[in-house]
Amino acid sequence: MKLEPKLREGFYMGLSNAILWPLLHGFATTIAVADAPWDDYVKANERFAKATLESSRPRDLVWIQDYHLMIVPGLLRKARRRQRIGWFCHVPWPPPSTFGILPWREAILEGLLGADVLGFHTEEYVTAFLECAQTYGPYEVDLDARTVRVGARTVRVIAAPIGIATTALDALARSEEVEDELVRLRAKTGGRRILLGVDRLDYTKGIIERMRAFDRFLAKDKSARERVLFVQIMVPSRTDVQAYAELKDEIDRLVGDINGRYATTGIVPLQYFYRNFNQRRLLAHYRAADVAVVTPLRDGMNLVAHEYVASRIHENGVLVLSEFAGAAAFFDGHPLLVNPYDVDGIATALEKALAMPATEASARMRSLREIVRGLDVQRWADGFLEALES
Ligand code: UDP
Repeated sequence: MKLEPKLREGFYMGLSNAILWPLLHGFATTIAVADAPWDDYVKANERFAKATLESSRPRDLVWIQDYHLMIVPGLLRKARRRQRIGWFCHVPWPPPSTFGILPWREAILEGLLGADVLGFHTEEYVTAFLECAQTYGPYEVDLDARTVRVGARTVRVIAAPIGIATTALDALARSEEVEDELVRLRAKTGGRRILLGVDRLDYTKGIIERMRAFDRFLAKDKSARERVLFVQIMVPSRTDVQAYAELKDEIDRLVGDINGRYATTGIVPLQYFYRNFNQRRLLAHYRAADVAVVTPLRDGMNLVAHEYVASRIHENGVLVLSEFAGAAAFFDGHPLLVNPYDVDGIATALEKALAMPATEASARMRSLREIVRGLDVQRWADGFLEALES
């Protein structure tokens, strides 16, 4: 199936990336709903539904992924009353006061509630969704049972946190190619302690606040300028959405500003890469990093946090984690949790992470590794499909 360029533009960039992404992350004030290409979103969803009908049989399980396709479940249900249909939300779900901004809120609810099972990462998002259905729909919602009655059907709304492929990642983290890359990396960083950020360039990731925090950290501790290196890997993303281009400019200026003030000859404290890393290089960076700084302003789950933990095969290293990342709901206080808007708070966490006694860091990391293994992606997929079948 192929969408024509204009339709794809409206559906993917115009509505999914420029409207739904910020809204579902709670960044509601910046979105221009009045001129949004909603019709393209519906048309594209119709095309996906048609393609699904053509390539499946009525007894197949159908599992639809993410916020781009919220109308598809309803369209499939109209065509096939008995099909088992699931939908999973890879991003957060906001409370009714935010969701209600969308002029198409009823259509979205109707679309989603064509499914038998709706999955979200956390209980918080499940509750928020149920409250939206209660506020904006004619549905009978049971907050305790986590169900929505739609005519004669009952839709289950479940928390099904995603994870990563832990076995494969563990094997790669221990592999010779990653070891070799790590040796090369260490030779270049000259024994400095490493703080690491890894994100798509996105305004939800809290990159500006994180860099300001590093700035304050350096201002306070003069010796850190030559002792500590912040590596920020930033993957280009949605470059044709204006907000992303503006953010890139702002980050460029801030990196220049920080290094301009704190660099000494041959040593820059903040190194930033604006490109995609392959897995070998990425894992070598996870392994080299004394501290991972994962501070999204809002994030459905955040898999970088999982990957850092899974890469720490020697059970050391410290995770600084935003309390507004879905992962924080599962990591049980073992990371150093921060409010990602609180620049001073992050700066303090960086200090604390670097000064953490090895025994404490190991105890925390061991617990985190067990949790990350338990959240393995295969378990996520099996668990969801089981819920859909039952
Ligand atoms: N990643 C990547 N290339 C890079 C850096 C990161 O493919 O150079 C991957 C990383 O391994 C992770 C994903 O990008 O799996 C980011 O997922 P996350 O859930 O943290 O955030 P998202 O980008 O989905 O919002």
